[in-house]
Amino acid sequence: MSGQEFFQAGERVGVLTTQPLDRLLDYRAPEGGCYLGAYVEVPLGPRKVLGVVWGPGAGDFDSAKLRAVIRVLDVAPMRSEMRQFLGKAADYTLTPLPAMLRLATRAPGLSDPPSMRKILRRGEDVPDRMTEARTRVLEVLEDYGGLAFTPRELADMADVTPSVVKGLVKQGALREEEAPRDTPYPHLDPELPSKQLTDDQAVAASVLAEAVQSGRYGTTLLKGVTGSGKTEVYLEAVAAALRAGRQALVLLPEIALTAEFLTRVEARFGAKPAEWHSGATMTERRRVWKMVGQGAAQLVIGARSALFLPFRDLGLIIVDEEHDTSYKQEDGVLYNARDMAVLRAAMCSAQVVLASATPSLETWANAEAGKYKRLNLTSRFGASVLPEMRAVDMRSEDLLPSTWISPTLKQAMKLRMERGEQSLLFLNRRGFAPVTICRACGAQVACDHCDARMVEHRFMKRLMCHQCGETKPVPDACPSCEVEGKMAPVGPGIERLAEEATGLFPEARIAVLSSDLFGSARALKQRIEEIAAGEADIILGTQLVAKGHNFPLLTLVGVIDADLGLQGSDLRAAERTFQLMRQVAGRAGRAERPGEALMQTFQPEHPVIRAILSGDEESFWKAEAAERQAAGVPPYGRMAGIILSGPDLAAVFDLGNAMARNDGPLRQIGAQLFGPAPAPIARVRGRHRVRLLVKAPKGVPLQDAIARWIAPLRLKGDLRLSVDIDPQSF
Ligand code: ADP
Ligand code: ZN
Repeated sequence: MSGQEFFQAGERVGVLTTQPLDRLLDYRAPEGGCYLGAYVEVPLGPRKVLGVVWGPGAGDFDSAKLRAVIRVLDVAPMRSEMRQFLGKAADYTLTPLPAMLRLATRAPGLSDPPSMRKILRRGEDVPDRMTEARTRVLEVLEDYGGLAFTPRELADMADVTPSVVKGLVKQGALREEEAPRDTPYPHLDPELPSKQLTDDQAVAASVLAEAVQSGRYGTTLLKGVTGSGKTEVYLEAVAAALRAGRQALVLLPEIALTAEFLTRVEARFGAKPAEWHSGATMTERRRVWKMVGQGAAQLVIGARSALFLPFRDLGLIIVDEEHDTSYKQEDGVLYNARDMAVLRAAMCSAQVVLASATPSLETWANAEAGKYKRLNLTSRFGASVLPEMRAVDMRSEDLLPSTWISPTLKQAMKLRMERGEQSLLFLNRRGFAPVTICRACGAQVACDHCDARMVEHRFMKRLMCHQCGETKPVPDACPSCEVEGKMAPVGPGIERLAEEATGLFPEARIAVLSSDLFGSARALKQRIEEIAAGEADIILGTQLVAKGHNFPLLTLVGVIDADLGLQGSDLRAAERTFQLMRQVAGRAGRAERPGEALMQTFQPEHPVIRAILSGDEESFWKAEAAERQAAGVPPYGRMAGIILSGPDLAAVFDLGNAMARNDGPLRQIGAQLFGPAPAPIARVRGRHRVRLLVKAPKGVPLQDAIARWIAPLRLKGDLRLSVDIDPQSF
């Protein structure tokens, strides 16, 4: 690419659009010219599409037919480091560049002229007639008390047609206003007093601050048990970035966490930072996107997609709970935000901090190999100590059928009730019961579209498929043998456990935290705050509660089924179980009251269970590492999954078999191919899924080989192929 930064009017430019095309399109630069990286609107057939000026035009298209850029958007041009990042991320994940650009332009209304933006608030008047749709619209406004939305947002959120919203405006029930200009965020002041750090914390904080000041790229693993003050420490790294006049990004795995986090940021820097996640309103997202680009948002707290915001000068990325599996995007562009953070930082000379009490084996291995620095916080802050962890041997517990709370656990809960403390029961299963079975013929209710069982949800009074979200009523008669009144739940889900807990402690205030019980992130946030304030005695939770919530009154954690994660054949099962159990246990005894964690298990002698109880992490990691090394799998070898899908299973397998026969490019790099075999999720929404697994030694050009392998394929009809570099399960 030439070093040219500005194109005069009429000059030929190459534009990358968000449309699925495999090349740049040539246009004439508009009146007034445009910068390299400019966001533009260009004509494509009869449509107008969004694009970015990616370089000079290639020149192989007839100049006479060349169309002109329609207009340059009023935002800062994309920086060269961002273009490089998108290019490298596309190469790494084998994703077409336009799909990467779509990730980077998720700012609703980016190309709307400002004059088109109206927002709506609740008006004075009452509509002449209330319909269900109208009620929903007004309820949405009420739920978000005080916030205003664009007409389209409001219609989307209430799930009504735009005409319903229009009708309400006409009737005066909604009031139209000019959208406010996208205003900058309040200034964050790094010089406000920080907490008095302990010696350990102070050392870690100053190492990170120095790294940030260096203005160079580097990655550090910040390891410390839950409650050791990792957050306090990395906020000082953020302060260092702010002092240097650079921006910082904190990635959190769960947006429900942000409430507590925002408060802490405000306490440290005197103002709230910008937030980026799917729950934010469109107006808010557009504002963040713009302010980040202007450098007027100094700190962003976000979900993984915040990595694709157009930062002006990003100096620091924190990946909190870096081991969390939700950092892997499993839909659309398949990327791991932790790895993309490292790539992005390398492009813009920023520091990365990977914070965790239980790092992923990948990160642990990178630290062992000296690629990442490592900082340890060894003890919990202040008087709080790690909970005492014990196994409850379920083989010698006396339980009634269809109950799961052992007498030992019940006794411990009773003690908490008497002391006015909280207990948390952890069970990683949503719904009432994982299986609904016919007691006459043994048939189970399966989803019509997926290779999955339907799970009963009592609160909803329906069966739900956790794969595709499809629901149906619980049948009276068995769909298979048609005998009535024999359908029965089997096994525990979080809702069933709640029923059992209510039976044992009728006087207790019981809170269930499961993602599908909350209509909105806001509702969940609020519930978590109430619980933290002591408005519950017994908390029942799925995976959702494992993450950093701070419940000061919580002193008992009961893991209902510690063996659950160890049952699969997944090579990562041990690592996952270890992380999850340690993480859940870490919820107890966060304040001055010491905590206790009881793990119900049928195999207390299992090496993973023993490692969890003893907390001897280094030996656990070393044993895990040795096993992975022997198997040649990540992080000691490379893997990629190729997922093929289509409505016709035979056609999908035919394609897979043809690919397996023509694996020349893979053999050239010494890679092995497994499959085709049914994918871990073998059928979703009526589409069959088949997987080919590629295993390669470290250091070979894996992506390049895969690209050459799949390039000649012409996918017929409804067949789809997606590449998953570094799959989560193998
Ligand atoms: P982690 O991120 O490792 O789980 P946190 O940073 O959340 O740990 O710290 C746990 C609790 O201890 C928080 O309430 C935090 O405010 C408090 N804390 C940690 N370090 C200090 C300190 N140096 N001074 C005062 N409070 C601290
Ligand atoms: Zn389904």
